[in-house]
Amino acid sequence: MSQRDYYDVLGVPKNAGEAEVKSAYRKMALKYHPDRNPDDKRAEEKFKQAAEAYAVLADPEKRRRYDQFGHAGVGAGGQGGQPFDPTVFADFGDILGGLGDLFGFSGGGRRGPRRGTDLRYDLEISFEEAASGTETTLQIPREEQCDTCGGSGSAPGSTPEKCGQCQGRGQVRFQQGFFTVARTCPQCGGIGRVIAKPCQTCNGHGRVGRERKLTVKIPPGISSAQRLRLTGEGEHGGPGAPPGDLYVVVHVNDHEFFHREGDDLYCDMPISFPTLVLGGEIEVPTLKDAATIQIPKGTQADTRFRLRGHGMPHVNGRGHGDLYVGVKVMVPKKLSREQKSLIEDLDQTMPERVDTPMASNPDEDRPFFERVKDIFG
Ligand SMILES: [Zn+2]
Ligand SMILES: [Zn+2]
Repeated sequence: MSQRDYYDVLGVPKNAGEAEVKSAYRKMALKYHPDRNPDDKRAEEKFKQAAEAYAVLADPEKRRRYDQFGHAGVGAGGQGGQPFDPTVFADFGDILGGLGDLFGFSGGGRRGPRRGTDLRYDLEISFEEAASGTETTLQIPREEQCDTCGGSGSAPGSTPEKCGQCQGRGQVRFQQGFFTVARTCPQCGGIGRVIAKPCQTCNGHGRVGRERKLTVKIPPGISSAQRLRLTGEGEHGGPGAPPGDLYVVVHVNDHEFFHREGDDLYCDMPISFPTLVLGGEIEVPTLKDAATIQIPKGTQADTRFRLRGHGMPHVNGRGHGDLYVGVKVMVPKKLSREQKSLIEDLDQTMPERVDTPMASNPDEDRPFFERVKDIFG
């Protein structure tokens, strides 16, 4: 048995575009679909042929091979056609997408109950709360199942009645050209039943808007724009459908002293000139209490000290980031008479050039201005 040319099967020219191929197949599929032609072998054969032709012509690579090598190029043996490709059926639903459930079936899962909507809640917390973790109560306005009717929408003591328009079938049929077309019943939305006495609390919707209180645990170390998902705490879905999720988007306020980068913290610590010169001990505030830093003799203004483990907690594990303490030289704006005279005395004793070696780099032993002059030639 020789196979028919795929273009002939669909009745399109060799140079037909994608849309033309799709439209031709759609027409044939509607005409010869088995649901519309029960026990008609000829129609079934035509339907299969059209599906097979479409599977090849709608795929640019397969079509190219078919144009070049004929049926042999796309693996169709010519012995009465290949087994029906189930993927074509998947395609079929897609093609019918715009037509709704013309045959009484809708392309995969669309009829199922709808999952509830996801909700978003923006939560502002302080820097300290982010560091220590916190527990907070949220007020979530959302739709919940009506307690009065248990979500059915019918007033207590009454039950939904059979829909008069579709006689409980959920579909209405009418004539369109040669076809009898089935549509979802507009009266009952395909359920087949209508609410005769609506529940007074929810007006028959089965759901009511309500403020719900939810306690949320914020883990230590959380940072801005991270979100927590509370599964199932979104809006209720339709009957039998799962609820949506609630996403809590966290905004952490800035800290006046600490600056955060990842889980490390940065701060500047005002230190007096004498302490930097002579060395000493200073107290630094940390997230928990305070830590002590030893300032070595001759500490430079751009020095940064690291305090291991004094940063933010790692949110998804153990341990903490580090705290980096930068030196900020305190320059007093107001001096007592005595202080002023001491500074003046000090100034008298300071050499114009810095002769004291300050670092291991020998170049830095040279006076600063001399080095600048070198740079500018
Ligand atoms: Zn109700
Ligand atoms: Zn109905």
